[in-house]
Amino acid sequence: MKLLHTKAEVQSWSKNIKTQGSTICLVPTMGFFHAGHLALMKRAGEIADSVLVTLFVNPSQFAPGEDLSTYPRDFASDCRKAESVGVDALFCPEVDEMYPQVCQTSIRVKSLSHQLCGKTRPAHFDGVATVVAKLFNICGTDAAIFGEKDFQQLAVIKQMVADLNIPVAIHSLPIVREADGLAMSSRNSYLSVDERKQALCLSQGLRLGRELAASGVLDSRFIIEKITALCNSCAVTIDYIAIINMKTLENSLRVDGQALLAMAVMIGRTRLIDNGFLLTGD
Ligand code: AMP
Repeated sequence: MKLLHTKAEVQSWSKNIKTQGSTICLVPTMGFFHAGHLALMKRAGEIADSVLVTLFVNPSQFAPGEDLSTYPRDFASDCRKAESVGVDALFCPEVDEMYPQVCQTSIRVKSLSHQLCGKTRPAHFDGVATVVAKLFNICGTDAAIFGEKDFQQLAVIKQMVADLNIPVAIHSLPIVREADGLAMSSRNSYLSVDERKQALCLSQGLRLGRELAASGVLDSRFIIEKITALCNSCAVTIDYIAIINMKTLENSLRVDGQALLAMAVMIGRTRLIDNGFLLTGD
């Protein structure tokens, strides 16, 4: 696996791949790899001839007071894990390499960025969209893959690519979970033993929502009330519990095949998200 630190190194690597007539799939990450990241990397290897992973904790998607300075990092372990799943190159730039001057340009995907996570993190998706566009331009990638765990991020990226005619095929992968249902996240490492138990309210809330929908309860407000009670019984602070249309991200009053349950909670100082379809068809 090649380690790339500068834009020039990535560009030369990418040019070499293209000269051979091969394709690239990009996997943007912030590192501290878990099985969810590794699943994305393996899938990327099925999509394209070469897999490029980027490891960059992007300051512009963190607000002051968020966990930028404490975000978990383990570069040596990340390198071993990425190599073990056949990643061809890992791009791990310093902040100055990505932002050599104060950035005057920002991408804002208007309608999708301000609800749900965007309410408490108003600049977050601008930071994400802008850095992803920069990475696409640096790498000249053919495809990129994102996790469905960050469903709003995925929606924002798809919209940006469509709006700006960016020639990158966007792929996604379902949420990879721990054995007890908790969605894998680098931020799970912040949780104490007790908080780790509280965090199960997310996957349990999703299960409860699915059980209610399967039993014919399709009124979103009722389902949200039940999941809210469950989360309150776990003593977490709810940011939002919403039932939304998967495409528009707007609230769905009644559950249908497009209805996604989306949740964000604070457990102590850790913010966790989860989501899933309520009518799963099984
Ligand atoms: P991050 O390093 O947290 O920014 O995530 C990098 C990519 O991995 C994003 O596309 C995430 O959506 C994806 N991802 C994170 N956690 C999971 C998970 N549990 N299952 C699948 N994909 C994930």
